[in-house]
Formats: sequence, structure tokens, C-alpha cells
Amino acid sequence: MAYFGTEEIPSLPGDLDLVTFGQRLRHLRRTRGMTLSDLGERVGRAPSQLSLLENGKREPKLSLLTSLSQALGVSVEELLSRQPPSRRAQLEIAVEEAQRDPVYQSLNLPHLKVGKRVPNDVLEHIVGLYDELKRRSVKPTATPEEARRANADLRRQMRERGNYFEAIEKAAQETLDAVGYSGGALSQGQILSMVTHYGFTLRYVQDLPRSVRSVTDTRNRRLYLKRESLGMHSPRTILLQTLGHFVLGHGQPRDFADFLRQRVEANYFAAAVLIPESTAVPYLQGAKKARDLSVEDLRDVYSVSYEMAAHRFTNLAYRHLDLVCHFIRNDETGIIYKAYENDGLIFPTDDTGAIEGQRMCRYWSGRQVFASPDRFSIYYQYTDKPNGTHWCVAHVDPSREKNFAITLGVPYKESRWFRGRETTNRTQSNCPTGECCVRPPAELAARWEGQVWPSARAHSHVLSALPSGTFPGVDETDVYTFLERHAEE
Ligand SMILES: [Zn+2]
Repeated sequence: MAYFGTEEIPSLPGDLDLVTFGQRLRHLRRTRGMTLSDLGERVGRAPSQLSLLENGKREPKLSLLTSLSQALGVSVEELLSRQPPSRRAQLEIAVEEAQRDPVYQSLNLPHLKVGKRVPNDVLEHIVGLYDELKRRSVKPTATPEEARRANADLRRQMRERGNYFEAIEKAAQETLDAVGYSGGALSQGQILSMVTHYGFTLRYVQDLPRSVRSVTDTRNRRLYLKRESLGMHSPRTILLQTLGHFVLGHGQPRDFADFLRQRVEANYFAAAVLIPESTAVPYLQGAKKARDLSVEDLRDVYSVSYEMAAHRFTNLAYRHLDLVCHFIRNDETGIIYKAYENDGLIFPTDDTGAIEGQRMCRYWSGRQVFASPDRFSIYYQYTDKPNGTHWCVAHVDPSREKNFAITLGVPYKESRWFRGRETTNRTQSNCPTGECCVRPPAELAARWEGQVWPSARAHSHVLSALPSGTFPGVDETDVYTFLERHAEE
């Protein structure tokens, strides 16, 4: 400004909105009853040049701005105002902008010239249609098919590595070393030391947005958590999962597959910290030697959920115990929510190879456990399947809000290492290939077929399209509002 001496000539704003500017210019010219030629004459420019300005296709020079403001009898500031002059002008701007959008242009419609005689309600209509077109064209993060494919892909990688991730084990061990962990279940104090070790502070709040388990303010390095237990997602598990993203150097997820991989890795990190390889492996090897392997002991020694203990077992089994195994989490109706195998178990799949959302065999232990006299006790079973017999242990974790069965299974010959191998429970299953339980028994079907109308319960969270966004399912407005609220504390 100083270069202009005492004259109050504003410099051209760097972020001048050319479309708004053009609309204001046209509006001012028309309300003064001038044609493009009239105005052109007064400022010494060709009408075509002014037309380019009005259409937002050219940036005005500062000198031209001054002459335009004089010709129109307004100040330069008013000419440059970012406020569109009227609803009419707003609509014209909106229609103009819409027509520049590639989504709009892909419709191959002829350019609509918004003349004076196009009524406002027509413009309102076009703007309304365009907004909806835009909304529908925003690609969701993943279609159910994409999500399932990403999931199937990840499971294949897990199987290939025996569900053991060396780099994450190493990161977990470094974290444990940093706080002087020496054995047993981790104390709350040790977990808090980990948070401090990585330069974070922890805040417990009551107003955490509903769509998240935790929020991290990376600018102020603050972790926000709610002090409550959600089944296996106890506060310390959530805390370690959150910390895991930073310890493992995760960036913003590129796509759904990346989001999924990061989540699996963070969960792995949390489990590897809570059930450390360094102490859990000798413990499990001792139990195997004593032929007394059991998931519930692992759960009790490390004070974790049954699900986490069973899942952690799959991480260490192949690498350190020379065992192949499988893991399933399913609900009461037999729908599979999570599954892993490297022991040859054949899961039901859809045509993308996905297992989640499929219903597993009625005779598998994860479904039989719900029918057992005490569904919350540990349930053991042998199951004869088309490609061999498995021994499984299943348990319904009573601490969860919804009843899920957790199954850990091994091929028949490996049952000798496990507690519960003497069970007399035994079923036969031909699923998913042969005639088994998918179709009802012929006699029953004959009596009822065609005389029933069941109304299905939707499994929305397994099967529906995933919500869009960088972090699928997270309400970003809620999260930002939340951070605003707490940032000054
Ligand atoms: Zn079956």
C-alpha cells in the first residue's frame, strides 16, 4: 500500500472471486441502464473485453477497476465486494458456476446463457437440480463390493503371513521397553507412560462425538477418550489402538483398503502391547507342553477380553507354537463378522470371496454354543467337515452389548494340546458344499413351503454401503466442533 503514497487504492485481492466480480459488474451496469458498448466507451475498452470480465473469464487490472468504479459511480471496494448483489445475481452466479463443473459438462448440454428474461424460479430449479447432481456424483468411500474385496484381500495377506506381523511386534516391544515392562498384565500407569513417551497427553471427556471411539488433536498432541467400557473396546484398548496409528506412522488413509489396513494394524499393535510376545510366547509354550492350552487362561493372565485373547492366539500360534488354526466372531443368527483361518477351514463366501455377512453352518460350534445349556460357559466341540475334522472352543462373551460367539479352532490332530479335548460334543457339517443346513429338511419344507412370509431383519452395518469421508463413518463436523470446544482448555 505504501507504494501508492497517500492514495487509497486497494490492491487487487489475491483471492478475488472472478465469477462474483463479473456478476456484480453486470448487475451494476444493468441497473444503470448501460449496454456493454456504453460502458466500454466510458472506460476506453472494447465491449468484448468487458464481456470477458462479466463472465468471470478475465482478471481486471487495477487501473481498469478504477475507471470502472468511476463510470458506474461506486467505490472500488464496493465493486470488489464478495457479496453477490442480489438473489437474482446469486442465482446467475450459481448457474454460471454449475455449468463450469466437469460433472455438469459431462451431460453435454448446450451452454445456457442466462439472459434477463430467464425467470428466477427457472434458475432456482436449475441450481436445485445441479446441487443434487453434485451430491450424487460424490463417490462414497467404498461400495459394499469394494469393501468386501478389500477385506478379502487383507485376509489373504494375513493368511500368507500366519497372521504374524513382525514390524508391529517390534514397535510394540519398543513401546513396552520404553516404559520398563517386565511381565504380567499391563498396569494403567504403564499405559499412561506410553502416551507420555510418545509426546501425547490424555483427556477424558463426556462429550466425545458419537461416531468415534477417540479423537486425537495432532496439533496439540492430545488424545480424547470417553471413560467407559464398550465390550472388548475398553478405554485402554482404544487408547492403545489410537496410539498405534501414530507409532506405526499412519497418514490419512488413501482409500478404503488403506483405511482397513490401518485399522487392522492399530488393533494388532494394541493386542501386541496388551499381550506381549516376549512373555506370552513362553507362557503359551509352557501350556502347550503341559497339553493345557486355553484361551481363557490367556485372557485372565493379561486381563483382556476373551475375543482379544483368542485373536492374539492366532498371531502367535503359527510362528511360535507350530499350530495352524482359525478364528470366527459371529452373532446369534450365525452371521459372520470377523474370520481368519490358515488351517484349511472352508468358510461360506459370496462371489467376491468375502466372508463377512455370510451365515455359517448351523452345526459349527459358534452356533451350537448358543444352543448349549449354559451359553456363557466355555463350549468345546468336534466338527466333522467335508475336508476333515476340527476341534473348536467357542465362548459367548457376556460382557458385550450384543451376543457374539468367539471361536478358536484347530485341526483334529492338534486338539491334543488343548484343554477341553475330551469333550463328547460332536457334529457333522457338509457346509458349504454339500447338502447340509442351508436348505430346510424335505419333510419340514413340504409342510410349510409357500405358506410363510418372514420379514427379514437387516444387517445394515455388514452389508450396506459404507459412509463416505476420509475416515469412513466419522462425522467430521462433530469432530471439529468437539476440538473447537476443547482446544482452549
Ligand atoms: Zn451346515
